Amino acid sequence: MKNVKAYGAKSNDADLNMMEIERRDILANDVKIEIDYCGVCHSDIHQVRNDWGNSKYPVVPGHEIIGRVVEVGSDVKNFKQGDLVGVGCMVDSCQECKSCEDGLEQYCENGMTATYNGKDEHLGGHTFGGYSEMVVVREKFVLKVPENLDTKAVAPLLCAGITTWSPLRQWNVKKGDKVGVVGLGGLGHMGVKFAHALGAHVVMITTSPAKAEDAKSLGADEVLISKDEAEMKKHANSFDFILNTVPVGHDTNPYVALLKRDATMTLVGAIDEVDIHGGGLIMGRKRIAGSLIGGIKETQEMLDFCGEHNIVSDIEMIDMDSINTAFDRVVKSDVKYRFVIDMKSLKN
Ligand SMILES: [Zn+2]
Ligand SMILES: [Zn+2]
Repeated sequence: MKNVKAYGAKSNDADLNMMEIERRDILANDVKIEIDYCGVCHSDIHQVRNDWGNSKYPVVPGHEIIGRVVEVGSDVKNFKQGDLVGVGCMVDSCQECKSCEDGLEQYCENGMTATYNGKDEHLGGHTFGGYSEMVVVREKFVLKVPENLDTKAVAPLLCAGITTWSPLRQWNVKKGDKVGVVGLGGLGHMGVKFAHALGAHVVMITTSPAKAEDAKSLGADEVLISKDEAEMKKHANSFDFILNTVPVGHDTNPYVALLKRDATMTLVGAIDEVDIHGGGLIMGRKRIAGSLIGGIKETQEMLDFCGEHNIVSDIEMIDMDSINTAFDRVVKSDVKYRFVIDMKSLKN
């Protein structure tokens, strides 16, 4: 075991501060990673503040991790010292159930191990995330990061990226499809970039006219203001797919009305109650679905796609010691579109 520096919270009302955590000695199939950058996801804040009621303290958040391999176990085949790698929301799963067999470890029937606040099978207690100088991860859950991209802006792809990529692929978004993206935050801005790169006609659906210009610069072809009833009516029954990134419970009926017959709207943000009227679904055989991050295989596919198409997240860099201010700004949606922590600021 090794003590490493980290940044975490000791209780739900405490600020994050410097602390020491333990990392396991590397096992035969482990990769040891020195962390360069870590993205700041809204889930980090939910977990630190115990919004979902399942947090274990101290919480060391961070599941958008980018770093360099510094050591590999004796059985590791795919990585070597110096490789640029990423780690997302999961660090392990049973590898035996149907979901794991299908490469969908996020739905592991025995419960995947979350990167932080998951059950630590090796040291006991719970797992600690990427707001730290180093992490040890099972090879299977380590991703190769293309070297041609702006490395720090790759970090958010590991959660915000795959969360939007996976449903776009699952529902087969393709050239010429009319695709709506609801909500322009960390998730929504990646949804727009990916749908655009896949050749879709992208419509940003937002309550805020102020976001129109930004949405277009990210790749949206049109902006639809959801409060404008006349405009919403014009777009009724016309969408092939809608990616709904709204992070809280809300009325989904106005969006369902936008779907074509047999089309789907997928929720990726609202782990919450949503309102849905059966009639809106029945009348057009429409579907509402959900999707959680993505499997390891499709996360690698997404990173490779980003390498080929030169896609990264729009980010604002911060030092570790300004994380508490950054949390407050995320809650107010005052970031375009993701904070990324320079982990060297922790090592100093
Ligand atoms: Zn996340
Ligand atoms: Zn499993």
